[in-house]
Amino acid sequence: MPKKPSLAAAPLHYRVEVADLHAHLFRVTLTIPRPDAQQDLTLPVWIPGSYMVREFSKNLQKLRARQGARTPGIQQLDKCSWRVLCASDAPLLLEYEVYAFDHSVRTAWLDASRGFFNCTSLCLRVEGQTGQPHELELVPPTARTGWQAATGLAPHKVRANGFGRYRAADYDELADSPVEMGKFWQGEFRAGGIAHRFIVAGAAPSFDGQRLLDDTRRICEAQIRFWHGGPGKRLASRPPHRNYLFMLNAVDEGYGGLEHRNSTALICGRRDLPRSGVTSQPEGYGTLLGLISHEYFHTWNVKRLRPVEFASYDYTRENHTELLWFFEGFTSYYDDV
Ligand SMILES: [Zn+2]
Repeated sequence: MPKKPSLAAAPLHYRVEVADLHAHLFRVTLTIPRPDAQQDLTLPVWIPGSYMVREFSKNLQKLRARQGARTPGIQQLDKCSWRVLCASDAPLLLEYEVYAFDHSVRTAWLDASRGFFNCTSLCLRVEGQTGQPHELELVPPTARTGWQAATGLAPHKVRANGFGRYRAADYDELADSPVEMGKFWQGEFRAGGIAHRFIVAGAAPSFDGQRLLDDTRRICEAQIRFWHGGPGKRLASRPPHRNYLFMLNAVDEGYGGLEHRNSTALICGRRDLPRSGVTSQPEGYGTLLGLISHEYFHTWNVKRLRPVEFASYDYTRENHTELLWFFEGFTSYYDDV
C-alpha cells in the first residue's frame, strides 16, 4: 500500500549547536514552517521554579531572519519581544546566538568541558503557536569527540550519544526540559516501575556512583509510595512521570537545584559526592541527598499540584502567587523526612 501523506503538521524546529566554545556561544536556528504575516516572538524573562525575573534576552544577539530569498526586517517591540516583518506564504528561519556563561541551574553554560541549557534561555516562543509540537535538535560540537547529551524530552531520532532530535508536545514541555552535554558519568535504576537515569558531570575518580544510585532509588521509592501507595505492595494510582533524569554538576563550590516535570538539574560540591573505599561518607552527602529528595518531591508538589495562577504561565512578566510557602515549605519539610 502506498504510504499516506502525513496530516500532522511539521513541528517548530530548534537546531542548537555550538557557535564558539571559548566565547561561550550557542547558535540557534529556529524554523517556523507556517509563520504569521508579521510573526511575533518572545523570550521568557523568568523560568518556572525560580521565580525571579532574570531577563534572559540580555544574552541573545545577532538575531536575523530569512524567508526563501528574502531577508525580512525585525522590529524589537520591548525587552523580550520581536516582530518579524515576514509573509505567511513560506517557512521562516530565525538565526541567533546566545551567550551562555552562568554556572547556575537557571540559565545556560558552555565551555570547552561542558554545555548546559534551559530552553527558556535558548528558545524563542513563536507567538500563536506555543501549543504546537516543538522539536529540539542537538548538534554535537565538531571539536569535542566523546561528548554525550541528555534531556528529559522524548527522543525522536537520537543517536547512542544522546545527540539528535527530541520532541515536546508544546512550548511548556520544551521549557521544562533542560539539556546537559559533555562527558559525564551515568547510571540507571528502576523505582516504582519507572526508569530513572542519573548523570554526573565533574565527578572525581573516587566517586562511588553505585552508592548514589542505591540511595537515590530508596528516596524515589519512598516518595512514589507516599503519593501513590495503597494497601499492600501495589500502587493505588500511577505516578505522573514515565521516566526521570537526574542531572548533577559537581563543582568546586556550589549548591542548588531546579525541579522539572520529569527531570531535575542539580549542583553540588565535588567533595560532597560519596566516595569508594571509605568507611564514612562526607557530611555534605546527607545534604546532597536532601537536595535530591527535595527536587524529586516537586515532581508532584508544584509540577502537578499547583495554584491556578500557574495553570498557564506568562513568561513575559512576574507570575504572582501566595502559595510558595506551600510548594517550598511542604517540600522542604518532606525532603528530610
Ligand atoms: Zn523547592
